[in-house]
Amino acid sequence: MIRRVGFVGWRGMVGSVLLDRMQKEGDLNYVEKLVLYSTSQAGLRGPKIANAQPHLADAMDLECLSTQDVIISCQGGDYTQKIHTPLRDMGWQGYWLDAASTLRMNENSTIVLDPLNRSIIEQSLHDGKLDFIGGNCTVSLMLMALHGLFEENLVDWITAMTYQAISGGGAQQMRELLVQMGEIHQHASPLLRLQDSSILDIENRINQQLNTNSLTISTIGYPLANNLLPWIDIDLENGTGREEWKGHAETNKILGKQSNPIPVESTCVRVGTLRCHSQAFTIALSKDIGSDELTEIIGQANQWVKVIPNNKQNTLQSLTPVAVSGSLEIAVGRIRKTSFNSKLMTVFTVGDQLLWGAAEPIRRMFGILSEHL
Ligand code: NAP
Repeated sequence: MIRRVGFVGWRGMVGSVLLDRMQKEGDLNYVEKLVLYSTSQAGLRGPKIANAQPHLADAMDLECLSTQDVIISCQGGDYTQKIHTPLRDMGWQGYWLDAASTLRMNENSTIVLDPLNRSIIEQSLHDGKLDFIGGNCTVSLMLMALHGLFEENLVDWITAMTYQAISGGGAQQMRELLVQMGEIHQHASPLLRLQDSSILDIENRINQQLNTNSLTISTIGYPLANNLLPWIDIDLENGTGREEWKGHAETNKILGKQSNPIPVESTCVRVGTLRCHSQAFTIALSKDIGSDELTEIIGQANQWVKVIPNNKQNTLQSLTPVAVSGSLEIAVGRIRKTSFNSKLMTVFTVGDQLLWGAAEPIRRMFGILSEHL
């Protein structure tokens, strides 16, 4: 039983999915009192949840936060940056669960993905650590998808080409993409309605709209509808983005392999899907084993991996964001060896980045804490 739990960021993409999952799974039955916080709506009525304080508390109120035994934050990195240290400096000794990247690489933090690193989590609890952070979405989804290969020590190195959904950027960006899609359609409509209009004229009209800043562009910065953005997160000024750096750094921290890391090289791309991150991997194997055996190893590693047979019909039906959105399944397909080197294999995976990529590892850590406290 956990006496007092504070939840910040429950209105956002990750937070709303997490709160929904916690209610569905009965996690809140183990909580005596839940306080929902907001940075913008303090004092307003919150959603009706058993054991929850009816009004929203102020997420900037350190005194109030410091009364919690566990704080879950899905509010974002800026919030963590502002609040976490002052709270600890006040002597707060509660557990901090967070979806943001801010604390992930701190020595005192543990990145949680319990199907792969339960023993590391247990060790951290035993050592008295208090900060437990969800991993980067593409990293957690990659590890869940390739769990079997890591467990069997079959991975020498990996490259990941990602296709990341707009909801990865939060609720506001998702709304903006939908607005952009509507604006494009509206702009093309007069020509679309004419049966004999030239398709090139339609394309030119849209391209002009995209290139003359006449779309709603406020949070994303560039058009995403009818486009893709091959850079995610800040520029590290060494030719890579921070999202790409996380692929290597977080994978090895989660696996406890920081002293002997597995190289992971990524190119991260934002695409105009609403939900689910897809990734194409090339994997250098430490042993030359057959595709059937590799498929079995991947498919049996955990209960969430669903292997999709490598043919056109199954792939188009089941290995897509449309098929996987809203599900805890990690679809893994296009499993094959390359024709030029039998120790190189390719894999394509699709996973819901709001579930296994964000909310679920935190929800499960909350469950581990309920047993621990
Ligand atoms: P988000 O959707 O932008 O929500 C964050 C906060 O924005 C909300 O809690 C809410 O706070 C405020 N907000 C403002 N306008 C809103 C609106 N129209 N609808 C809902 N909330 C609104 O952020 P997020 O994507 O959940 O990300 C939270 C953290 O998780 C970030 O650090 C992110 O990097 C990390 N993360 C995200 C994903 C993902 O797929 N999105 C995956 C893994 C990790 P107030 O109530 O205080 O106003």
